[in-house]
Amino acid sequence: VTVSASLREPWASLPGQLRERGLRWTPQRRTVIEVLAETRGHITGAELVERCRVLDLTVVPSTVYRTLDVLEQLGVVRHGHGADGRQEFHVGSETDHGHLHCATCENQWEITEPQAGAIAELFAPQGFALEASHVTIVGQCRTCRERATRAFG
Ligand SMILES: [Zn+2]
Ligand SMILES: [Zn+2]
Ligand SMILES: [Zn+2]
Repeated sequence: VTVSASLREPWASLPGQLRERGLRWTPQRRTVIEVLAETRGHITGAELVERCRVLDLTVVPSTVYRTLDVLEQLGVVRHGHGADGRQEFHVGSETDHGHLHCATCENQWEITEPQAGAIAELFAPQGFALEASHVTIVGQCRTCRERATRAFG
């Protein structure tokens, strides 16, 4: 694994930003950043720990979670919650979005921006601002519903 000189933004300027927040720039932290820089879409904390430990067995979960906290404060990652409530991190330039989760096949789809807007409208009268990345709606997808209809209908 090579040095962070080859990383693009927003990753390249992280060593300085982490130091400003009192976190030392260690080889373990560099591994966390390098794995995240290669990640597209979603990753759970446990998956991140696992991928880091493939590269460097000295990476411990507390380093990974502490780094994730600071990266979220810096806006580089953003957490949401899966159907079981566990945290999932969105990495990269992805927009803030919620998810539809099929309880039967466990597949997941993104809630589109217009859909998220329509959901947010529902709560506007209460003056409540919805965080789209925290919305996970559990149900049954079309394929699973059709399969169930064929089986019982
Ligand atoms: Zn949360
Ligand atoms: Zn399904
Ligand atoms: Zn997502």
